[in-house]
Amino acid sequence: MKLGFSQAEEDFRTECADWLQGQMAGEFADIKGIPGLNDEIERRKEWEQQLAAHKWSCIGWPEEWGGRNATLGQQVIFAEEYARAGAPGRVNHIGVELAGPTILAFGTEEQKARFLPGIAGGTQIWCQGYSEPNAGSDLANVRTKARLDGDEWVVNGQKVWTSLAHYSDWIFVVARSEEGSKGPKGITFLMMDMHTPGIEVRPIRQINGDAEFNETFFEDARCPADSLIGTPGDGWRVAMGLLAFERGVSTLGQQMGFRNELDAIVEAARANGLANDPLVRQRIAKAEIGLRLMRYGALRMLSNTDPSQIDGAALTYKIQWASWRRDLGELAMDVLGQEGEITEGEDYEWSMLPNMFLFSRSDTIYGGTNQIQRNIIAERGLGLPREPRGDR
Ligand SMILES: Cc1cc2nc3c(=O)[nH]c(=O)nc-3n(C[C@H](O)[C@H](O)[C@H](O)COP(=O)(O)OP(=O)(O)OC[C@H]3O[C@@H](n4cnc5c(N)ncnc54)[C@H](O)[C@@H]3O)c2cc1C
Repeated sequence: MKLGFSQAEEDFRTECADWLQGQMAGEFADIKGIPGLNDEIERRKEWEQQLAAHKWSCIGWPEEWGGRNATLGQQVIFAEEYARAGAPGRVNHIGVELAGPTILAFGTEEQKARFLPGIAGGTQIWCQGYSEPNAGSDLANVRTKARLDGDEWVVNGQKVWTSLAHYSDWIFVVARSEEGSKGPKGITFLMMDMHTPGIEVRPIRQINGDAEFNETFFEDARCPADSLIGTPGDGWRVAMGLLAFERGVSTLGQQMGFRNELDAIVEAARANGLANDPLVRQRIAKAEIGLRLMRYGALRMLSNTDPSQIDGAALTYKIQWASWRRDLGELAMDVLGQEGEITEGEDYEWSMLPNMFLFSRSDTIYGGTNQIQRNIIAERGLGLPREPRGDR
């Protein structure tokens, strides 16, 4: 087994690194390294369009839809160089990584032609309407209703934690379309225009003062009958396909971002003398080992030519990186000490490491909590008996 990238892949690395670093030193220097996803929205949208204009927006997609047909290895390299260059968080992450691949996999040719150019071009921002107050881990408990009325769906209900809904153009909604159905049966996967009358977005204020996610209410909100992917009542299959994109290899390349965070902790520890503390040194070394193990694991996954094996390995990857980063956030705060609780500028304008600490608490929740990931590993990975599921 050969772990590492080929010469062709390293050439690709040079190409994308040069372009990204050039952008972050030039036209888009003002948004280099900005944290979170809520600031400088208009500039971030321009950045999406700049990526698209140079065909760096959705490199894993087929060329006919604006991608580069990039291999998994190239996608990882691009993500690594993206983080190394300090390029800002992608406001259309959900469009590019979740909605687009789902439309490519399950959509009709007409839907591809209608939606993919807007996502690839960075002009249509998407959000994800899955979670509800009583349907998070147990997504199959969704109560938002969709009913066909002539040639339109009428949607009523509430979603929660809808990241970036406040500036999204489109949302995909998992809704119950068969009266009296329970669990995964009778669910339909709809794509809705966020500017539709009857859709209301209310921000949820976070502990850092920001509001990246929202409650989204639907009151007799209408969309055309052909807004669904798949067939009525068959939306669970599509919803799970999308989740596989969210939990799977789409996060493989984020390790360069983690490297930047760990380096910042080491720098802070050197600066305040805690690098001499035996316990802190142990924890830093442990973090370094964990990061290297994740990288070798990722390379090993990529060296696998059988895609089903990649999916199997990806089952353990989400829980691994999320837990590692949660520990890293705690390490960062212990190294910073009181300094980590002080802001320099406006209220809640946290610097990189305290921000990372706060966000790292959510890594083990979104896209499948650690507990749910363990259940999936047990059931799907190891073939253990399924957990009891009430009356379903
Ligand atoms: C930063 C962030 C962004 C998000 N963005 C979006 C978004 O854009 N769109 C969207 O739809 N959702 C979004 N979510 C919501 C996310 O998908 C849910 O938070 C997640 O699915 C967990 O659901 P819950 O919060 O309802 O917790 P619950 O499901 O109520 O879980 C509470 C606790 O119980 C545990 N638990 C639940 N069931 C089991 C079980 N069967 N076995 C063992 N333990 C169990 C969980 O692990 C957890 O610890 C986001 C969440 C976060 C943190």
